[in-house]
Amino acid sequence: MGRAVLVFNAGSSSVKYQLIDLDGGGRLATGLVDRIGEGGEGLLKHRAGDGPPHETRERFADHAQALDAILAAFKQAGPDLDRTAPVAVGHRVVHGGTRYGRPTLIDDAVLAGIRELSALAPLHNPANAAGIEVARKAFPDIAHVAVFDTAFHRTLPAAAYTYAVPREWREEHSVRRYGFHGTSHQYVARRAAALLGKPAQEANLIVLHLGNGASACAVEGGRSVETSMGLTPLEGLVMGTRSGDLDPAVPEYLRRVAGLDAERIDAALNHDSGLRGLAGSNDLRDLHEARERGDEDARLALDVYCHRIKKYVGAYYAVLGRLDAVVFTAGVGENDPEVRARSLAGLERLGITLDDGRNRSGGRGERFVSPDGAPVPVLVVPTDEELEIAVQALEAAGLGAS
Ligand code: ADP
Repeated sequence: MGRAVLVFNAGSSSVKYQLIDLDGGGRLATGLVDRIGEGGEGLLKHRAGDGPPHETRERFADHAQALDAILAAFKQAGPDLDRTAPVAVGHRVVHGGTRYGRPTLIDDAVLAGIRELSALAPLHNPANAAGIEVARKAFPDIAHVAVFDTAFHRTLPAAAYTYAVPREWREEHSVRRYGFHGTSHQYVARRAAALLGKPAQEANLIVLHLGNGASACAVEGGRSVETSMGLTPLEGLVMGTRSGDLDPAVPEYLRRVAGLDAERIDAALNHDSGLRGLAGSNDLRDLHEARERGDEDARLALDVYCHRIKKYVGAYYAVLGRLDAVVFTAGVGENDPEVRARSLAGLERLGITLDDGRNRSGGRGERFVSPDGAPVPVLVVPTDEELEIAVQALEAAGLGAS
């Protein structure tokens, strides 16, 4: 049995976790608890290895109760945490601000620091901190490491991260671009470089993480140099429920003409916009179906979604100057040949073309979807944020070298 790392992703009402054996044993356990603190019954779904799912329903008042239930599931369905003891816990933390630019061993001061950054991520950081707190109590003798969604983007140059706004906003209120999905972009960029047969330090890539949240990242020699999400995950691409880019004057306009207050506008831009706002569903599969039935809203939503991606590909090509590959990842990027085709249509003169057969093959793993010898290959690389968190946690805990 090798070194196992427990990966913990605590959201405001859910906890996802995985126990990963980094010495070749793969996923020893995966699970999810939902509806924490929401009053009704929640569901815990736990799976040991490839075994059958073990499910329990109960009321989870807070993260502590959720963790108790997770530990009970390990006892009942395995694996036995005494025999397969994790050597570290890796915690996904959304916002590291400018303070945390790398995976960080958690002590009381770091936990307080994560809480202090809650102003920047009011929904996420407090939940991440609550998860850390209960996990440290349950596993007091091993290293806990915070792996920040923002950290990979610490290499953004000032020209890319600076918003052209008053000095006071920038200096006293930390207003700047931070970027998110960093763990995914980093993992995918490294895998893509390997597929291209290039050292990571030599690969220039545009990574398109298209999930429910979506962001683009320009990676120059293994370093993030530009990314589409900003101070918060709202900026950039059209997402499942988020608008992405918008004229910053829209909220004030809506206040004036519709009497909407800032909070309602913010909620609508985050939860009722994007694909959902345009066509009623945040799931691309629904939109394809609706479009086939002739639904005009679904057609427009797909047009807007793919147009925005194409705009970013062009912009990031210009930022990089030289491009080695375009890489698609996450739920949409990995599974939707239509979105890939439409987002890159017409870019042949930039050297970017798809092989229609490869693109539509329905394949699942890491793969080329461009023709052999294409000037700019197009790749699909399934993301694995949990594995990346486990690897980074092990390294930060000083246990990385095998
Ligand atoms: P999250 O951001 O929640 O981690 P994922 O990366 O799992 O999300 O992506 C979820 C989204 O992926 C879904 O909302 C759906 O739009 C899209 N998706 C999943 N499977 C497919 C598919 N076969 N075809 C098109 N889109 C898909």
